[in-house]
Amino acid sequence: MVEVSTLLVVPKTKKCNAHCKFCITDQLSNLDSFEGIEEQEINLNKLEAVIKFSKSIGVIDANITGGTEPTLTNSKNLYDITSILSKYFGRVNMYTNGASLLNKTGNKTLTDMLSDGGLTNLVISRAHYDDEKNSEVMRLRKYDLRQTVQNLTENGIDTKLSCLVAKDYIGNEGEVINYITRAKSLGIRKIIFRELLYLKNDEDCNEWVKNNAIPVSFVSNLMKVIKINEFKGLWNQTIWNYNGVAVTIWPDNSRKDTINNGDLIYMPDNHLYSSWLTKTSRIM
Ligand code: SF4
Repeated sequence: MVEVSTLLVVPKTKKCNAHCKFCITDQLSNLDSFEGIEEQEINLNKLEAVIKFSKSIGVIDANITGGTEPTLTNSKNLYDITSILSKYFGRVNMYTNGASLLNKTGNKTLTDMLSDGGLTNLVISRAHYDDEKNSEVMRLRKYDLRQTVQNLTENGIDTKLSCLVAKDYIGNEGEVINYITRAKSLGIRKIIFRELLYLKNDEDCNEWVKNNAIPVSFVSNLMKVIKINEFKGLWNQTIWNYNGVAVTIWPDNSRKDTINNGDLIYMPDNHLYSSWLTKTSRIM
């Protein structure tokens, strides 16, 4: 039996506000069928049933993520999704490119509102510590990362940066150290370095990804060479403490969570699937 530990919730959103050179959304064929679906509110009753089912089979964690960018969904709906997840899970995480977190409704930022809903953790995708370089690869308008992190911290949201290692960007040991150092100066205490992902069987696989993909193992090798503290996390993943910043990598073969097992994915059509890739993986 496949073990699962995380429920992913995918709200239907408008077109993403970034156009990352590494985006694989187009390759997740299970999302194609939602192209015709207008932005719609997730059915909260159905989501609650799915949460109860997920908990009954051992899921302990919830992530709000996107076929595109979750912060672009209707903010009231996003608040409702967060609230219902936080009723059942102690840890509710969201993945975002970060650009909309300071957007305001009245006197509240989107971050304030997500915090009110019970969001506990957030991962911001950031390809480079330098604004210009980051915009170049994510093709995203520049935004104030320092202020964004400050607002997240004020709200008690545990924030992590996610960096895709790439040949011409964060692609060597010096740049890894620069990235960690710059992140720390902004108040970030967690970073995950990830390998660029492409679906090997997809002939349309993004050329940029193919040309820039490098193994993330150079990060773990670096951590071992500089002999910093190494310990194990909740899912047995290796964590290095570099000057007070917890550094992890993906893939990490010692991990025992969804990455090695399976995800449950609640898609915009209000059905639960076990795969991003095929409609036949529908569970309920
Ligand atoms: S922010 Fe995410 S969804 Fe948007 S283009 Fe980049 S990788 Fe794709």
